[in-house]
Amino acid sequence: MSRRAKAKQILATIERMKVVLQLERWDLHVQIVPARADTSPEPSQQMAAGCHASPQYQHAELLFALDEILDEDIDATVIHELCHALVWDQVALIDQLTKELITRTPDIKPALELLAEGAVERVATRLDRIFCSLLLDKPPQK
Ligand SMILES: [Zn+2]
Repeated sequence: MSRRAKAKQILATIERMKVVLQLERWDLHVQIVPARADTSPEPSQQMAAGCHASPQYQHAELLFALDEILDEDIDATVIHELCHALVWDQVALIDQLTKELITRTPDIKPALELLAEGAVERVATRLDRIFCSLLLDKPPQK
């Protein structure tokens, strides 16, 4: 699939899913790039897509790196990122609690950050699988 076709499908899926996921009143700012310009030395930080949300303002920034998303994963990737917006309040709470605990007990920082990040990702993934199985003709096989 061409980059242009992928971008078109991403935007169409966002338009369709934001209604289903009750994000239709949100301002969703979508950035679509050929490849993610990631300067992180950690390969695990180089993601195909990302979300940063501000639920209090009903705003989310969504990023999709076209070359890193397989054609068959486009819809599932969009749904996954929108699921991050759905649970962003809980993420913010976890982040705040994590920072507070680290301030009191600095030794636990690496373990706690890993635990918090994993918990957030598992919730978003569980939700995206549920929505994918309900909404897509062919849910992702993961
Ligand atoms: Zn995620």
